Amino acid sequence: MFKTGIVKDDRYMDHVASGYHPESQQRLEVVYQMLKEPTMKGNYSEVPPRMATQEELELIHMPNYIHLVASTAGRSMTMLDPDTYACAKSYETARLAAGGTLAAVDKVLGGEVNNAFALIRPPGHHAETSRAMGFCLFNNVAVGAGYALSRHKLKKALIIDWDLHHGNGTQHSFYERSDVLYFSTHQYPYYPGTGFFSETGSGAGKGFTVNVPLNAGPGDAEYSLIFEEILEPIALEFKPDIVFVSAGFDIFYRDPLGGMQVTPQGFANLAKIILEFAQETCKGRVVFVLEGGYHLEGLRDSVREVLKTMRGELLVQGRVGEVQKQADHRLIDPIIKKVKEAQKPYWKID
Ligand SMILES: [Zn+2]
Repeated sequence: MFKTGIVKDDRYMDHVASGYHPESQQRLEVVYQMLKEPTMKGNYSEVPPRMATQEELELIHMPNYIHLVASTAGRSMTMLDPDTYACAKSYETARLAAGGTLAAVDKVLGGEVNNAFALIRPPGHHAETSRAMGFCLFNNVAVGAGYALSRHKLKKALIIDWDLHHGNGTQHSFYERSDVLYFSTHQYPYYPGTGFFSETGSGAGKGFTVNVPLNAGPGDAEYSLIFEEILEPIALEFKPDIVFVSAGFDIFYRDPLGGMQVTPQGFANLAKIILEFAQETCKGRVVFVLEGGYHLEGLRDSVREVLKTMRGELLVQGRVGEVQKQADHRLIDPIIKKVKEAQKPYWKID
């Protein structure tokens, strides 16, 4: 069995919209409640979060932007973008979300846990260096990767983003860098509009961005095939020292925002593929960071399966291959071909 850390803190409920908003505090309430179930309780090592410092946020964000978010503190409601609000406590909560990711990185790299899941909000992958977007204030996973490289002196980080939406902020943060590889599967064309095949990085970062834009429809079989055919060979060749997962659960089959068909078992399969190649390249050091996921029961059940997989409860052993036989190849074969064409100059993925 592996030792798995979880970042959880009731202060993540303090980021609250004035009316209905899909990215609500209830998302974490159902997940934290699930952690109290008899099969979950006591099995995970709690990692206390901390506030990310100004300097740590500046690994990704511009000082002026951090100042802008800070200026919303204490004000009842500020709209930072048509979808993105800040209430009186959002600045603090967002700093705690980024800092929760950093606490997870510290525990994993310190060897106290094998892997960790930061069960935090607000999410982060749409946040740009100078702009809040799509429910995101600070880019938790990007700050985490920047921190793992600069403070822990790692050479290479891989960020895998399986959220329904493309992580524009994460892509842009590392677009010209070769030390962070960003891989994303996402519905396309869709919000935020980025993430086409041809976006592969620029300058020294050429080949270190891998986009898999998908039509609506793929489920467990199709996603696991994409992960095995594209992600795994690239990851094994890149050899990251740490792996981050922007774990969005809005590809769940009943999610109100998405058109994908992934089940809780399907999320476990994806986690298993990642944890297995991470075992080969970086001693299984994987930090999962919560992004989207707006169907409450689906989010709860899917996070549960991923957590069990992280701990090594091999519920899905031998199942990935079986599931893949059911893949609808019309949905993904043309896309896999185009991704391979775009990435062929950089990776051995023929
Ligand atoms: Zn999303």
